[in-house]
Amino acid sequence: MLDLRPDDDQRMLRDTGQQFARRDILPFIEWLNATDASTDIEDISARTRQLFSAGKALGFTHLLLPERYGGVGGRCIDAVLLLEELGAADVAVAADLFALNATVPLIVLQAGSESQREQLLGEFIEQDLILSGALSEPTVAGSELFCPQPDASLGIRTQARRDGDGFVLSGQKSAFITNAALADRFFVMARTDPARPLHDTLSVFHVAAGTPGLQVGRRTELIGWRASHHAEVLLDGVRLDSSALIGREGQGVAIMSSLPQMPICLAACFLGLARTTLQTALEYARERRSWGKPIIEHQAVGLKLADMRAELDAARLMVWDAALAVDTDPQAAATLKAPAAKTMAVDVAIRNSQRAVEILGAYGVTREYPAGRLMNDAWVGYACDFTRDMLRLGMVPFL
Ligand SMILES: Cc1cc2nc3c(=O)[nH]c(=O)nc-3n(C[C@H](O)[C@H](O)[C@H](O)COP(=O)(O)OP(=O)(O)OC[C@H]3O[C@@H](n4cnc5c(N)ncnc54)[C@H](O)[C@@H]3O)c2cc1C
Repeated sequence: MLDLRPDDDQRMLRDTGQQFARRDILPFIEWLNATDASTDIEDISARTRQLFSAGKALGFTHLLLPERYGGVGGRCIDAVLLLEELGAADVAVAADLFALNATVPLIVLQAGSESQREQLLGEFIEQDLILSGALSEPTVAGSELFCPQPDASLGIRTQARRDGDGFVLSGQKSAFITNAALADRFFVMARTDPARPLHDTLSVFHVAAGTPGLQVGRRTELIGWRASHHAEVLLDGVRLDSSALIGREGQGVAIMSSLPQMPICLAACFLGLARTTLQTALEYARERRSWGKPIIEHQAVGLKLADMRAELDAARLMVWDAALAVDTDPQAAATLKAPAAKTMAVDVAIRNSQRAVEILGAYGVTREYPAGRLMNDAWVGYACDFTRDMLRLGMVPFL
């Protein structure tokens, strides 16, 4: 039997997420939206860290880690339920602070040696460490990050040169590295042999912030996601010992392709955003009257709201299905269900936010109402963790 009702623990987790959203995320976002260019970035970073620590204390960042390493031992579906609640308050906080920090440690869980698991997972759980994954690179490694063509000139150029017992990393990561300016630990994808095809040589390295040679650039200004901290990461002769390599040399693509939890958790954050756009539009449509009745009673408006609800429900089913498949059919989850779920959740968030802007009329484009901000936030999802076109192209061989 297929039962989509959350159990008692999941309901409790969702309640905890809702309370955290009300008590911690919304006041932070209200404060952030009132800031301007003169606000000290250090102040913004410090408050972002406080928010992260508060969520971490509730177990949000180690929800997916097994109990034997000190984690909560939750499943992907649990994280999805939580992240929709956080995403309903703010998609950037949900995605960058909580989805990312809950899923990046899975790299170590999946591919690390037992001693790396014990040491690194222990550190992530015990300390308030913010994580970052540095893969993409300007010009050469956006959509072509994992390009399967056997052409050594394509994709990531950052090099990890063998040096005695360790490696030396040099290269430049794109301006979109999430959490770059806040991060305590980076997971950097680099090539151990630039002459060999991309897929045979990409490897993942664990690098602590502050390691000599690692520098973070200026914060990238996005059209939305005010709570985010994206920046370039520069690596200039970063010396690491051999224990920094996670998994084996050349295993990078395999590691990243077997973590459907990342796109699924991101998708869940966008369900929250899509839900908030519906709520915003509904409240307005019930209040605002034109031609003698609330605008929800004009069919053109009512139908838009019905579409928003139907598409949100459809996207949620896809995200839940993908999350459940992580346990039952991880191959299908990774190749088809996760990219489809991320594509659908972001598409619905974009469409719903545009409909909300329409329904709010002139107020849709004011700062007084959230609809315009939510639309910008929704569009940020389009290229984050691969564009919808690249995700769909990646599905084709598995159809
Ligand atoms: C908010 C945000 C957060 C991010 N976080 C991170 C992060 O934490 N770590 C990280 O490493 N990177 C991160 N990125 C980078 C992200 O992964 C890339 O931006 C994304 O993969 C797209 O690459 P690009 O910008 O180079 O687009 P391009 O590759 O330049 O693509 C431009 C357009 O061409 C299309 N296109 C390109 N190639 C093809 C093709 N072969 N077939 C069909 N269409 C194609 C694309 O779909 C797109 O529409 C982030 C990006 C954003 C926006």
